[in-house]
Amino acid sequence: MHVADLRGLTVAYGNKVAVQDFTCSIPEGCIGLLGPNGAGKSTLIRALLGFVDPAGGGGTVLGHNIATHPLEIRMNVGLMPEMDCHIPGMTAVEFTAYAGELSGMPREQAMRRAHEVLEYCGLGEARYRNIETYSTGMKQKAKLAQAVVHGPKLLFLDEPTNGLDPAGRDEMLAMIKDISHGKGVNVVLSSHLLPDIEKTCDEVIVMHNGKLRAQESVKTIRVVGTSLYDLELKLPNDGFSDAITRKSAKVIHNFSTRYRVEFPADFPTPTRAVFEAAKEVGAQVRVLAHAQRSLEEAFLEAVQ
Ligand code: ADP
Repeated sequence: MHVADLRGLTVAYGNKVAVQDFTCSIPEGCIGLLGPNGAGKSTLIRALLGFVDPAGGGGTVLGHNIATHPLEIRMNVGLMPEMDCHIPGMTAVEFTAYAGELSGMPREQAMRRAHEVLEYCGLGEARYRNIETYSTGMKQKAKLAQAVVHGPKLLFLDEPTNGLDPAGRDEMLAMIKDISHGKGVNVVLSSHLLPDIEKTCDEVIVMHNGKLRAQESVKTIRVVGTSLYDLELKLPNDGFSDAITRKSAKVIHNFSTRYRVEFPADFPTPTRAVFEAAKEVGAQVRVLAHAQRSLEEAFLEAVQ
């Protein structure tokens, strides 16, 4: 099941093309939308909610066409925008209930839910205060509360950890994880921060200069091909590099007992070759695994 399907979506502001020929299917789960500032992430989210008209292409969100049924989409999704979105003079509980009413909830139900979600977001005590008096961390929590008040099936979070200190960031990410993995709400998390995506998301969509650059599971995007291995011997061994090289592998780097080796892509039995080379020189292999790169390396490769 997909929460959104986009085909050739293009969005421009005058001459500036912010999203270009974007084709992708966003699956259920917690999905990261990763890209540097200016990549077009916010514009993509705006287009999915029908706030900006595409210059080309189109798509569906929760099965509704973004061009013809934006209201149906907005009733069923929640948005935590990047910018502040409170109304001056309103308390958090008034504002959150108001957001619920705007999504079609009856007033009493909206008020009841506002109290619940503010409590959940850690603003129980502060919910009768005007949001202008809030710290950045509290404002972010209030933005999250208004996004979930109506019980959406899909939640768009645009840079939810902006301006947060490390403790606030961890708290926000834990709530996002609970909302997606604990409560089963589908989440699209837009961020320029790799660790945020890595901590919370199942899959990542990498965006750069308005274009889709990669879409992969967070686990596999870090695995480099099948020919690169990291291994560790029990003790340092001078002869191992030569022995593994004779088995057609290249030693990419070696620090003390640790090696990264690369076999030709079509090499049939790399793990056996490692054990054979070790045996030849009387070494013991303690660890052998496909090499992993950091998400940062994977990301740089995707945008280059
Ligand atoms: P991101 O969310 O990844 O930071 P944005 O979608 O905000 O990226 O911006 C994508 C590009 O579109 C940027 O070059 C930005 O300057 C431009 N842009 C965004 N909003 C507007 C706007 N209202 N008018 C003109 N250009 C815009």
